[in-house]
Amino acid sequence: EKISKMSAQVVDSNPYSRLMALQKMGVVEDYEAIRKKTVVVIGVGGVGSVVAEMLTRCGVGKLILFDYDKVELANMNRLFYQPHQAGFSKVEAARETLVHINPDVEIEAHNYNIITVDNYDNFLDRLVHGGLNGERIDLALSCVDNYEARVVVNKACNDLNLVWMNSGVKENAVSGQIQLMDPGRTACFMCIPPGIVAEEGDEKTLKRDGVCAASLPTTMGIVAGFLVQNTLKYLLKFGTVSGYLGYNALEDFFQKDGLKPNPECSERKCIERQKEYMARVAAEGPKEEKV
Ligand code: ATP
Repeated sequence: EKISKMSAQVVDSNPYSRLMALQKMGVVEDYEAIRKKTVVVIGVGGVGSVVAEMLTRCGVGKLILFDYDKVELANMNRLFYQPHQAGFSKVEAARETLVHINPDVEIEAHNYNIITVDNYDNFLDRLVHGGLNGERIDLALSCVDNYEARVVVNKACNDLNLVWMNSGVKENAVSGQIQLMDPGRTACFMCIPPGIVAEEGDEKTLKRDGVCAASLPTTMGIVAGFLVQNTLKYLLKFGTVSGYLGYNALEDFFQKDGLKPNPECSERKCIERQKEYMARVAAEGPKEEKV
């Protein structure tokens, strides 16, 4: 009896046993596959830092972090960063915390602006060769707070034919959304006029100079949770991967959609990917559409 109590304690103190239980309970076929996956997180602010922490605790193989900013005391109304990290670059502060949480996760950190000409090539290179063993990454997650950076991530992923997910939290801090972009199969970021995705306004104005945006750790944590849940489902192939999931905190309203690509999208590469996808579907014959 003593031995069985001790072994129960050993199992409980190992975080992987709780994750592997997902497999034993039939939710996921092969949870272990997470250890071979590389996920890129672009922007490790209020949403991205929590996303990185969740993926670290889930035992992802490798994380590649991008952010140009430093931790500020003004960020302390959100989760993850701590006051003693103020002044450090967000990516370095994040790396320091994450390696202590789970040393098995490889962390690569880039402290730069992804949209500048000087950095863009390196950014692309990390998407193509940053995965474990120098392979392509498995998924990119955009957790930035501005339109321009999202447009750049969209362009890079359309060019490279890479699946990514976008996330956003509104300036008033009480609504947010995530969206999956699978080039050619789903809408890309430019397929839908920004006003529709942003609700009540143009996404271009979501981040305005001189305007102090509101932020709540609750909404950011919920959006981060949505994003990582969708990431786990996508990477480990269980459940239904959401195309679009919106959250309005005032009404506790959740909007779920699949967004089809726009045949008149302004992105040339998106149109090309749509044609490739249609040719692939025609060659394979009819298949169940999830998004
Ligand atoms: P706030 O603007 O509310 O003070 P914030 O700048 O930390 O907060 P968040 O929404 O919490 O914004 O996080 C977004 C993150 O995305 C920030 O850390 C920001 O530095 C990062 N980011 C935005 N654009 C880029 C970019 N082009 N390259 C790299 N990181 C970016």
